[in-house]
Amino acid sequence: MDGALRREARALVRSARALVLELGEEGVDAIDRSLAARARAPVRAEAAPEAAALQPAAQPAEARYAVRSTLDGVRASLGECTRCRLCEGRTQIVFGDGNPEAELMFVGEGPGEQEDLRGLPFVGRAGELLTSMIEKGLGIERREVYICNIVKCRPPANRTPLSDEVAACRPFLEGQIDAVRPRVIVALGKPATSLLLGRDVAITKLRGTWHEYHGIPLMPTFHPAFVLRQYTPENRRLVWEDLKAALTRAREAGGRKPS
Ligand code: SF4
Repeated sequence: MDGALRREARALVRSARALVLELGEEGVDAIDRSLAARARAPVRAEAAPEAAALQPAAQPAEARYAVRSTLDGVRASLGECTRCRLCEGRTQIVFGDGNPEAELMFVGEGPGEQEDLRGLPFVGRAGELLTSMIEKGLGIERREVYICNIVKCRPPANRTPLSDEVAACRPFLEGQIDAVRPRVIVALGKPATSLLLGRDVAITKLRGTWHEYHGIPLMPTFHPAFVLRQYTPENRRLVWEDLKAALTRAREAGGRKPS
């Protein structure tokens, strides 16, 4: 090894040591290496946006991750993410909220203004409606479920996330699902349902019918923001029925959650 190479190698080792010390000081004691590797991989959406964003992962979570993910590990892998352009307008990353052992997991679209400011998903008007449906409708506390979005940074003017943004953030959603391993997933709205089912769906046709995400029962329903925009008794009844069906199925599953 010549002198220049040796100096470069020493510099790399020094940087790696500094990074490990920095992560330790921030309380990170483990990194999910499978997520880090997947997140470093090129985002195929650049070549074929729709197909790449919606393409279902090839294997179930248990086979895809040698070791079960943890929410802390997934969050550490995300870091101060700049993997897509949504990082440019965010106040902060909105990772997820709730019970890491939840039986019910809600997956929405992306943070809005309030979520971006507070760093928590579903805390604006749509979030208040969702919380009310969970607490008053289902009779369980919000902290008993887990709530997150398909993208963790606020899209400008609350637009729908673009397919390459969804593709860039997708490994972290998959990691969250692998960490929580809920008994039932409730997909809120078309973008979340399309991503989790791996195809473009019409939410008005699909809502209220059972599907699967890698063996986990999945119930698509309307996004609370849509219900707020079209606040009809009929829409409220439909979402209410979907949530009741999801809770019933989660409870029927009973016993131990998959580990
Ligand atoms: Fe990273 Fe996801 Fe935010 Fe894009 S939306 S910058 S992939 S955390």
